[in-house]
Amino acid sequence: MRNFDYYLPSTTSEAQDVLKKVKGARAKAGGTDLMGLLKDRLTAPDSVVSLDNVGELTGIKERDGGVWIGATTTIATVAANKTVHRGGEAVAEAAARTGTPLIRNRATVGGNLCQRPRCWYFRHPDYPCSKKGGETCYAQEGENKYHAIFDNVTCNIIHPSNLAPALWAHDAKIHVLGANGKTRDIGIDEFWVLPEEDMSKETVLEDGDLVTGVTYTPGGRSSGSAYVEVREKQSYDWALTNAAARIDLSGSRVKDVRLVISAVAPVPMRREDAEAVLKGKAFSEDLAWKAGEAAVADATPLRDNKYKVRLLKATVAHTLIAAAQRAKGGK
Ligand SMILES: Cc1cc2nc3c(=O)[nH]c(=O)nc-3n(C[C@H](O)[C@H](O)[C@H](O)COP(=O)(O)OP(=O)(O)OC[C@H]3O[C@@H](n4cnc5c(N)ncnc54)[C@H](O)[C@@H]3O)c2cc1C
Repeated sequence: MRNFDYYLPSTTSEAQDVLKKVKGARAKAGGTDLMGLLKDRLTAPDSVVSLDNVGELTGIKERDGGVWIGATTTIATVAANKTVHRGGEAVAEAAARTGTPLIRNRATVGGNLCQRPRCWYFRHPDYPCSKKGGETCYAQEGENKYHAIFDNVTCNIIHPSNLAPALWAHDAKIHVLGANGKTRDIGIDEFWVLPEEDMSKETVLEDGDLVTGVTYTPGGRSSGSAYVEVREKQSYDWALTNAAARIDLSGSRVKDVRLVISAVAPVPMRREDAEAVLKGKAFSEDLAWKAGEAAVADATPLRDNKYKVRLLKATVAHTLIAAAQRAKGGK
C-alpha cells in the first residue's frame, strides 16, 4: 500500500474542506471497500479523509414525510432500526442481507452506495481491463459466471450494492455536498453511470463530492416492500441476482409499483416494463411470474451466466409476492 496523509475531521465542513483543497483526496467511511482498493493499488490517493468522527453524518430521522439516513450510519444500524422496518421493509432486508455481522457493523450507507465493482478481473492487479483504462473486458470471453446479463457490451461488471435497489424502490434521493460548498439532491435513478458513459466511475459523483445522506419515501398503510436476493454461499456473499419492489394496493388492485433489479448489470435497473404487467390489475402470483418474465425479456447473457436469467425471473416473482403480501397487511 502506498503512504498517504490521513485526515480526521470532526465536522462535515472540515471534511469537505480537505476533499476540496487536497487534490485526489478520498473519503473513508467504514473502509471495508476502500482499504481493499488501496491494498490492491486500484486507487492510490495522497490523502484519505476519515469520516469516523463526523457525528452529524450519522443517524436515522423521519423528516418531511421521508426517512433520512445519514451517510455514515452503519448498515447494522439500518437493519435493526424500527423506523426503517416500519414502511421501509426492503431497505431493512437489504441491509440485513449485506456481508457479515463484522462488515455490517463497520460498513456505512454512503460507502455501500459508492463501493466499487467486485469483478475479479477489475480487482486483480494483473489484468489491465477496460475499467482500469485497458482495451479489453476479460469477462467478455473469460470467466463470466458472475457477470452482467444486461448492458454487457463494453464492460461486464455488475452493480454490488444491496441498498441501491431497495432505496430506489422507495424513490430515494441522495444528498451531496459538492466541492463548491453547495448541497444538491440527486434522484437515485440519476445517480448511476454506465461504462459506456464513463468507464472510470460508477456514479455521477465528482472529485470533492461528499455524500451526506439519503432520504427515502416510506410506504403507507396499503403499501408493502420487499428485497430478495439469491446467492451462492449462504453465510455471506454478494448477490447473484437481487430485486426490490414496493407495491401500493387499492383493495387487491395494484395502484402503484416500483421494481428494481440489480447484480445483473453495471448499474441497478428499474423495470417499468415489468411494472406495467401489474399496474391497475388485481395482484396474483401468476401476474408476479409474468412480471418476472417481462423483467428478463431483453437479457443478453454471456457464455457462463445463462442461469442468471431464470434466477432473476424467480427473484422478481418472489420479491413482488412478498411485497404484495405486506401491502395486504401481512407485514
Ligand atoms: C466479505 C464482504 C462481503 C460483502 N458482502 C456484501 C453484500 O452482500 N452486499 C453489499 O451490498 N455489499 C457487500 N460488501 C461490501 C460492503 O457492503 C461495502 O464494502 C461497504 O458497504 C462499503 O462501506 P464503507 O463504509 O466501508 O465504505 P468505504 O470502504 O469507506 O468507502 C467505499 C467507497 O465509497 C467512498 N465513500 C465512502 N463514504 C462516502 C461518502 N460519504 N461520500 C462520498 N464517498 C464516500 C469511498 O471513497 C470509497 O471509494 C461486502 C464486503 C465484504 C468485505
